Amino acid sequence: MELCVLGEYLIDFTPSGKNPDGMPLYAQNPGGAPVNVACACAKLDVPAGVITRISKDPFGEFLYGYLGSLGSVDMRGVARGEEPTGLAFVTLDASGDRDFVFFREGCADSMLRREDVDISLLEECSVFHFSSVSLASPVSRDATFYAAAKARELGKTVSFDINYRPFLWKSEEEAVREVEKALGYADVVKASEEEAALFGGTAEAFLSKGAQLVLFTYGAEGSSFSNGREEGRVPSFPVDAVDTTGAGDCFMGAFLSRFIRGGKKAGEMEGRELTSMLEYANAAGALCATGYGAIAPQPYPEDVERLLESR
Ligand code: ADP
Repeated sequence: MELCVLGEYLIDFTPSGKNPDGMPLYAQNPGGAPVNVACACAKLDVPAGVITRISKDPFGEFLYGYLGSLGSVDMRGVARGEEPTGLAFVTLDASGDRDFVFFREGCADSMLRREDVDISLLEECSVFHFSSVSLASPVSRDATFYAAAKARELGKTVSFDINYRPFLWKSEEEAVREVEKALGYADVVKASEEEAALFGGTAEAFLSKGAQLVLFTYGAEGSSFSNGREEGRVPSFPVDAVDTTGAGDCFMGAFLSRFIRGGKKAGEMEGRELTSMLEYANAAGALCATGYGAIAPQPYPEDVERLLESR
């Protein structure tokens, strides 16, 4: 196993039309940013495993069964709990903009405890990846920081996607405080444009907090990198996007798969290597947006190669 992720795995209920009585229908999609990242990386032929806590309720059984059915993700780090499954409903407002309603307090993924963290996975991996969702509740926050500290102690590359979900936090101040702490562990930081503005502003700000490589994503516009010596902006590929849920996670899983294959440390890569890795990751993110849900539309290596060659 090369990539070890830690964090939430839950159900994204995604709007899927109306029934004959005009009542909204929702599709039960498995998702959760860190797990999406692991699935994307594994699908691109770089072994990945997850540390998470899955409920024993029927939704949890579904999530556990789905992850197992992929056959490519190492599940040794999955703990099971009596707590209910966390649920996220994707909602569309009057102007068609997407948002989330979460039902997560006390749910299995937020109750991941430090005793659930399988240290052997951290020892085996070369990259440890997490995001801020597991920092939003106290029990999983403790487990997350415990694992991040352990990964650093073991000399692993630590990757952090800010992945800010305001609804999950008591206040913006609390989120800023915990994200700030997480940034102190991270060698690689990924943020969307909006998150960057809220938590640091510029790539330099993240670099000054300890990161060696900062990646920003801009939806259909592509992504950028900065390592303090070089920076570059890399355009994405035009696709017919139908659902961008998980595009950023797919981008990150694809990037980490190339990073791991490259075998260098985050601060050692040159601009041209980073540009080519971001082209690959952009292509993967773009392909993910062409299908519904976060995991099912993630591409295989030949899909990414085909899109890269089309340019
Ligand atoms: P996040 O989900 O973290 O907000 P983005 O929506 O920025 O992430 O998507 C991550 C990456 O996926 C982008 O940088 C881009 O390369 C690719 N991508 C996402 N949406 C599209 C799209 N509609 N067309 C082309 N590429 C896209």
